[in-house]
Amino acid sequence: MAKTHRSPLLDDDKKTIWHPYSSTHSEVPVFAVKSASGCLLTLEDGSQLVDGMASWWCAIHGYNVPELNQALCKQLDSMAHIMFGGLTHQPAVELGKKLVAITPQNLDTVFLADSGSVSVEIAMKMAVQYWQAKGQSGKQKFISLRGGYHGDTLGAMSVCDPVTGMHTLFSEMLSKNYFVPSPACAFSEPCLPEHLTELKTTLESHNENIAALILEPVVQGAGGMRFYSADYLQQAKALCQQYDVLLIADEIATGFGRSGKLFACEHAGISPDIMCVGKSLTGGYMTLAATLCSKDISDTISNNPPYAFMHGPTFMGNPLACSVALESIRLLLASDWQKNITRIEHLLKTGLEACRQFDDVAEVRVLGAIGVVELKQAVDMVKIQQAFVDAGVWIRPFGKLIYLMPPYIIKEDELNILCTAIFNVLNNGKYR
Ligand SMILES: *Cc1c(COP(=O)(O)O)cnc(C)c1O
Repeated sequence: MAKTHRSPLLDDDKKTIWHPYSSTHSEVPVFAVKSASGCLLTLEDGSQLVDGMASWWCAIHGYNVPELNQALCKQLDSMAHIMFGGLTHQPAVELGKKLVAITPQNLDTVFLADSGSVSVEIAMKMAVQYWQAKGQSGKQKFISLRGGYHGDTLGAMSVCDPVTGMHTLFSEMLSKNYFVPSPACAFSEPCLPEHLTELKTTLESHNENIAALILEPVVQGAGGMRFYSADYLQQAKALCQQYDVLLIADEIATGFGRSGKLFACEHAGISPDIMCVGKSLTGGYMTLAATLCSKDISDTISNNPPYAFMHGPTFMGNPLACSVALESIRLLLASDWQKNITRIEHLLKTGLEACRQFDDVAEVRVLGAIGVVELKQAVDMVKIQQAFVDAGVWIRPFGKLIYLMPPYIIKEDELNILCTAIFNVLNNGKYR
């Protein structure tokens, strides 16, 4: 029987609230969550859903984590927030030191931001100010990969995939950047010279206008959930050096272990010039992101007019967010996270394998704690969302993609429930 999704709360929600990427007249059901703990979401009506999304990559330790709760409460006793202009505090400094220590070498300076999109804006502004400081004010454009996703603010949107990022809708508003094809070489496949031809020719022709190449290392997330060769990343880094263009690695989705390495850049053994982290940084507790850069970049910007990096969010370095981020990183590193991701990868591979038999399935792919079933056609969100909730799981497909990126603490039986729910939905056709 279909679980009910009507209540006074949901009626008010429908009247008042605009949900992400949605129409206020959408028929796609919305569900009210009363509480969340471990890998389970409890709905208003008391029913429970196994969470396959980790709240969009964030909740790596699951929900209601005692250690994270405690870190927040402890910080709350001393201060919730303090402006970051001219003032500092232990949680921000400790977090900065920790991020520098665990990210690829050469990333020495940390700029804290309040969301992933903002950290991308910051990265782009850093790149432009760097070249400006070196007397190359013409370098203000970016190259990015088709199929990429970097956020929803205007600068970030201008480097998202032009089609899925709806560039035509905002054509007068978005700055024009360069795009090269999404890497054709899949993860663990070799990357051939022709896979980088367009990147090379674009750099060759336009490097005088280009501040940076921005990409999601190895995993293209919201733009298509594709995994590409680490060789590509390595060779792209070499091309950036050859043509005097910075490399910005957007690790907002991949950071903190999701792809099997602590940061996806490690698959290629490269250090970017600028790196963005966010999403799972606080274990999904609070909004926080950071942009890290090399000392060369922070020194060059700081030693030249206007002798300042021109950015400063009001909630920069929020102490609550920094404290919970520190505790989340401590928890992750204290666990045998790499072995755990391998465990999840194995279970996802076995669990999703059976989906290959359906004619509507184009591809099944797994990397680290990310499992993707790509269909040949977009799903009907009204039907599939209800079907998943009826099956006791929280899985949120988009377009042709049904995917899992569960909390790292997920148990084998919970993962089986998620994989079986996907199989059953495909088997009984409740998605079209
Ligand atoms: C989610 C995401 C962003 C944007 O982060 P927000 O916190 O939603 O602003 C940017 N880049 C990547 C790769 C992401 O996955």
